[in-house]
Amino acid sequence: MTVRTRVAPSPTGDPHVGTAYIALFNLAFARQHGGQFILRIEDTDQQRSTPESEQAILDSLRWLGMSWDEGPDVGGEHGPYRQSERREIYGDYVQQLLDKGHAFKCYRTAEELDAMRNERQAAGNSMALKPSDLILPDDEIARREAEGAPYVVRMKVPEEGVCVVDDMLRGPIELDWSQVDAQILMKSDGMPTYHLANVVDDHLMGITHVIRGEEWISSAPKHKLLYDYFGWDMVHLCHMPLLRNPDKSKLSKRKNPTSIMFYERMGFMPEALLNYLGRMGWSMPDEREKFTRDEMFSHFDIKRVSLGGPVFDMEKLRWLNSLWLRELDAEGFAAKYADWAFKPERTLALIPHIQPRVETFSDVAPLAGHFLSGMTDLTPASFEHKAFDEESLLTALQYGLWQLEEIRHWDVEEIKGRLFALAGQLDIKVRDFLYPFFIAIAGTSATISVLDSMALLGPDMSRARVRHAIQVLGGVGKKKAKKMEKDYRAISAAIQEQLNTDA
Ligand code: GLU
Repeated sequence: MTVRTRVAPSPTGDPHVGTAYIALFNLAFARQHGGQFILRIEDTDQQRSTPESEQAILDSLRWLGMSWDEGPDVGGEHGPYRQSERREIYGDYVQQLLDKGHAFKCYRTAEELDAMRNERQAAGNSMALKPSDLILPDDEIARREAEGAPYVVRMKVPEEGVCVVDDMLRGPIELDWSQVDAQILMKSDGMPTYHLANVVDDHLMGITHVIRGEEWISSAPKHKLLYDYFGWDMVHLCHMPLLRNPDKSKLSKRKNPTSIMFYERMGFMPEALLNYLGRMGWSMPDEREKFTRDEMFSHFDIKRVSLGGPVFDMEKLRWLNSLWLRELDAEGFAAKYADWAFKPERTLALIPHIQPRVETFSDVAPLAGHFLSGMTDLTPASFEHKAFDEESLLTALQYGLWQLEEIRHWDVEEIKGRLFALAGQLDIKVRDFLYPFFIAIAGTSATISVLDSMALLGPDMSRARVRHAIQVLGGVGKKKAKKMEKDYRAISAAIQEQLNTDA
């Protein structure tokens, strides 16, 4: 058997370090067994998937030094590798399940489903909706069908009993069927859900081992049942421990930058970041901390993955990166630094903002130094301004940060729309309102437009700097955040309304 593994990201946001972590372990496993590693794009959620996100994922994984044997950009025998291009394939498989009686068309309306869920909740029952809850009497099905009512296709699942799923790291895992709902396989628009597309593709693409995050354990019974229904050999499953923040909570961008692009922008070496991801839950047989990708691959053993939640800690990553930097000779350092600092596309995007404002080249660094730095060097005094006291300063920055966190398409118009609307809501003049953001982002207001700076720096770096500014100002503790969130809700709703009318 040739080992074939895959990573299957959904292109719905910035390329996440968690995606790179899972990709790395799939790649290492495939390479160690002389097998193949496939990249598949799971873009069945058409509302949230974007081509920019897909491109950013491919670019980021490549930047980290990973490559795949098959994928949307390199082709292969099992394509297409983008699920949105495989729609007809899934339709055939759904029909097979319907024909064999393993799935049913479900004409239940959203109101009916809500009512059933409320009833279950009130009775203290599990929230899973089972086929017995959902399947309508034959005459009612016929009536709704004749009306042309919309339907989804759901899989039949056992009402009770135990499902045992084998996991390469955990051994047999027992899951209770009563907790598993009659999963939707095909939505009313004819698009498959993750569960169906994922299982069908893994089979058709000859995947032998699925290494993925532990958040998918609860989906495993459905997947196993689908393999049974189709009569296919089950893949080997391996659920990796989730990456965690230093406080052990699940790694999330609200606490930690999670985009691979942020780490690039911060000036980490890709080799060091890859090395660090390799340290997440795994260690070299001799426990050494610094190792190359190929060293990892030649010593790889999935059994050495430990299940304790691996902590992704920026301080530790900085230390590891420093080891990589120290090893460069002066020429190597100079070349790598220049590549990082003066990336052509980035520099070119910046020039139109700089050129009209300078008289000599030596004016450039004071104006644009914040594009070559990480967190800005700040003290509370840096923020002093007539329009703010301590309290209103923190409120402006925290609300601003929450607004920035809501942005999905990061561009200058979107940033401007939200921050201007927020200034209006807080009844602060826009010019004054932006002052603390200038300080947070650039360390000074004597620079290019702070909105342009944020657009150019990208979401993770911008949010990280605002977060850093809030820390410098003493931070927002849990209690205070709760209170702020309460006040913020109304403001945020008003801003959303305003943005909707403006659009
Ligand atoms: N598309 C899923 C994700 O974004 C893939 C999960 C899996 O590997 O099965 O994580």
